[in-house]
Amino acid sequence: AIPLGYFGGIGAGSRNGILFKGSSYLDRMTRVDTVVMDKTGTLTKGTFKVQQVVSKGLEEKTWLPLVAAVEKQSTHPIAKAVVEYVKDAQLPIPQQVEEIKGHGLKGIADGKEVLAGNAKLLRKFNIPVEAELDDVVETIVVAAVDGKLAGYIIIADEIKEDAQRAIKQMHALGIKTIMLSGDKQAVVDKVAATLNIDTAFGDLLPEDKVKKVEEIKKGKKEALAFVGDGINDAPVLAISDVGIAMGGLGSDAAIETADVVIQTDQPSRITTAIMIGKATNRIVW
Ligand code: ADP
Ligand code: MG
Repeated sequence: AIPLGYFGGIGAGSRNGILFKGSSYLDRMTRVDTVVMDKTGTLTKGTFKVQQVVSKGLEEKTWLPLVAAVEKQSTHPIAKAVVEYVKDAQLPIPQQVEEIKGHGLKGIADGKEVLAGNAKLLRKFNIPVEAELDDVVETIVVAAVDGKLAGYIIIADEIKEDAQRAIKQMHALGIKTIMLSGDKQAVVDKVAATLNIDTAFGDLLPEDKVKKVEEIKKGKKEALAFVGDGINDAPVLAISDVGIAMGGLGSDAAIETADVVIQTDQPSRITTAIMIGKATNRIVW
């Protein structure tokens, strides 16, 4: 029989917006000594806003609608920011829009080939991008039209107010904090420094996130929790000792794969879940 304490723990979870997919995860939460977190949407709000548009090869009115037309086909939070910025403009109907994982988009608009993504995307297509862009501590969409650099869109996200509290609480519990992101290292380092996160890795493809988590897990006796929100996070959620989906913005795939679902967008609920696990253990044993 399941000890009564577990029902208390599951109930306490649900009153705090935390769904444990079984009583074993209550116990496993208490053994977590490393929390690996995704940046965008987990520690930051994940709602980007365009700050500035810089034209390089073409006039803004020529290239920006082409980029926005292509971005309109994507549900990525970065794409939403670009589309929101040009919302009153007439956009062409694009063709053959493809997502290039971890890089951005490629498509055809008004008969021209359009690339919109990070600097890595353009370099992949042998279009030179100034090295200084890599050091800018903002997320940047770099755009090319017909194989030539057209301009940049500087985009910003905000750190969640609750993230600071969450990291402090984890450190108070002796937990090591790690952040993973597909965003550029300069942005990742800035967020990590602001939040005082122990270790942060940027420029990761979804499969790199899986590899990183496997590396961190190796030789560990205690449990590793991963916290993420996006569709791309499902494989990492699956291989973690405890996969936690942040339900505030969470995708269905992430919520399905997760062991624990946090229904609010507050990362401090991770430590709440650990405390509930610990309190439950005291009642059970
Ligand atoms: P993360 O969610 O950790 O940022 P992603 O794999 O979703 O990782 O994206 C990695 C990077 O690829 C983004 O930071 C961005 O630079 C670029 N990117 C992805 N999708 C788009 C898009 N639709 N438009 C522009 N850039 C994109
Ligand atoms: Mg993502």
